[in-house]
Amino acid sequence: VSLPIHDAVLGRAAERGDTPALIDGAGELTLTYGQVDAFHRRVAAGLAEAGVRKGDVVALHSPNTVLFPVAFYAATRAGASVTTVHPLATPEEFAKQLRDSAARWIVTVSPLLDSARAAAELAGGVREILVCDEARDGVRSLQAFLGSTGPVPEIDIDPDEDVAALPYSSGTTGVPKGVMLTHTSIATNLAQLEPVVPMGPGDRILAILPFFHIYGLTALMNAPLRQGATVVVLPRFELDTFLGAIQKHRISGLYVAPPIVLALAKHPAVADYDLSSLEYIVSAAAPLDAALAQACSARLGLPPVLQAYGMTELSPGTHVVPLAAQDPPPGSVGKLLPSTEMRIVSLGDPSKDAAPGEEGEVAIRGPQVMKGYLGRPDATAAMIDADGWVHTGDIGRVDDEGWLYVVDRVKELIKYKGFQVAPAELEALLLTHEGVADAAVIGVTDADGTEIPKAYVVRQAAAPGLTAEDVMAHVAARVSPYKKVRDVEFIEAVPRAASGKILRRELRDRDREARDRELPDR
Ligand code: ATP
Ligand code: MG
Repeated sequence: VSLPIHDAVLGRAAERGDTPALIDGAGELTLTYGQVDAFHRRVAAGLAEAGVRKGDVVALHSPNTVLFPVAFYAATRAGASVTTVHPLATPEEFAKQLRDSAARWIVTVSPLLDSARAAAELAGGVREILVCDEARDGVRSLQAFLGSTGPVPEIDIDPDEDVAALPYSSGTTGVPKGVMLTHTSIATNLAQLEPVVPMGPGDRILAILPFFHIYGLTALMNAPLRQGATVVVLPRFELDTFLGAIQKHRISGLYVAPPIVLALAKHPAVADYDLSSLEYIVSAAAPLDAALAQACSARLGLPPVLQAYGMTELSPGTHVVPLAAQDPPPGSVGKLLPSTEMRIVSLGDPSKDAAPGEEGEVAIRGPQVMKGYLGRPDATAAMIDADGWVHTGDIGRVDDEGWLYVVDRVKELIKYKGFQVAPAELEALLLTHEGVADAAVIGVTDADGTEIPKAYVVRQAAAPGLTAEDVMAHVAARVSPYKKVRDVEFIEAVPRAASGKILRRELRDRDREARDRELPDR
């Protein structure tokens, strides 16, 4: 689909007229499709008047609001690429992204203005800071542009070459990298997803994951707005607000990450709300255990929780369990999308494919592959080989009907005495203990220099007496001896990225600090 992203998404917005497109879940504001269409054109005109030119980078720094999509499509219509920024980024982190992406414009919201200013100061090169909401301290609001009378810019966009979005990868395995996604790669991925996860008029989708991450951007903004659904927008995840919004707005479809599935399966508050409007739940972004998915759907009386799989570099989707699938196999992340190819590369010999049904590294080729990492030719070459295959770094296997199962990341595997242990498997097992509210597993080096699996466990409020021995015994009774959890530490909360991924780096730092403290005085 070779179209600018704003046309691919909003092509039918004008004809949808009064249908609600975006509802502010926390307040009263509703934007109809007609308004989104008209507003983004006016704001594009205002941005052009302000000086935004083709090829400029606009940093969009905002929690989810109904104006986020307006700002996004206005910027692309004005010819810019949008780099989305974590609203809670520190000024230093934000400045790094501004510098790396050479952003010339910042669009933020007034509560975050000070942080945006500090970042712009540190980075240099920013021409103007704008806000989506109330103008403040001499900073202009995009809303003032709604009155702009200038012409809507007619930019000559080459959808196959020009970068529409420049999201940064989550930084789970290293520094976050700017991922260049063209208009075509994003629009094509939306078209690939549409038949398998249709969202029509009448569907109500809850935008609970951040728009700034590629998963929320696709599943909660681009896809529903392209297909005519209504998006109820929440700025952050807070369990009661989330459950209340499902009840109040009669939400039909949820796109979430595994921690929310966990909350839906286990948290007592879930029983206080009427969630009967829900028709389906899709989970992606991190491994979801089959038993947990099953517990969630059984508790809510829903069909199985479906999974999808992808990564920023793949615009992002490659696999989805179709909404219409009858009895999809538990634990699968889905089937390959149309016009996409997959190989499972042997872990022992990367020049060969793994034997059928065997685990290997997932490699993907297709129209949704990124153009490259911004300014990092070496990292790009390490990710995309000469034949165009993206080496995902994820371990998976495919069954004889084509269902993919993602085991974990190659880099996260714990090597215990020559055996490989996947943290995701142990985390899933830990969650089956009723005293465990949440858990994360990493490999740490013990006093003998051996890498061992260590569990970080959050106790269930009702189980204050849960001990490390209880936890280790629970796992030991259910796995081969080499997979046993050999160290346990109790923590208040598992550190996670906004996309729901466990921040194992932080746990590794924590473990290293604890071990350093234990070293005897010399
Ligand atoms: P970085 O590349 O900066 O280290 P990241 O890989 O976490 O960060 P993303 O692009 O947000 O950044 O995440 C993509 C990764 O998320 C995939 O490579 C995979 O490991 C994981 N993932 C996505 N969907 C699933 C899923 N359904 N099951 C298991 N893992 C998933
Ligand atoms: Mg990655």
